[in-house]
Amino acid sequence: MPIDATLPYDDQNIFARLLRDEIPSRRVYEDDWAVAFHDIAPAAPVHILVIPRGSYVSWDDFSARASADEIAGFVRAVGHVARAQGLVEPGYRLLANTGPHGGQEVPHLHVHLFGGAPLGMMLAR
Ligand code: AMP
Repeated sequence: MPIDATLPYDDQNIFARLLRDEIPSRRVYEDDWAVAFHDIAPAAPVHILVIPRGSYVSWDDFSARASADEIAGFVRAVGHVARAQGLVEPGYRLLANTGPHGGQEVPHLHVHLFGGAPLGMMLAR
């Protein structure tokens, strides 16, 4: 079910619990600002989610409230993961679903990193 990204942060959401190691994940990278792990239902040969450690509901929330250090740290983490996965030369796609029209289901900001094959059209028609 898509979520209302304007609601306050819910610290029981699944990615908050994953950050606290209350549920398992297949982590590929972590630093002071971000954690990256394999999506549980991959939609491409490489499908990794990168999330900030801070409590932000969505891209909107993060871009409005996060500090410059948090934003820089998060963006650098996404780039680092893409490079570490060998995706720069073949190419990749980033996606941050936001709110109902974006189809966001988990109310903690996450950027999808897709790669490993030609990804086709940007949006289904
Ligand atoms: P979104 O629709 O952008 O909110 O995407 C949420 C994504 O989180 C989906 O691609 C799910 O497959 C993924 N997901 C949900 N629970 C987990 C989990 N426990 N570990 C890894 N990925 C998850």
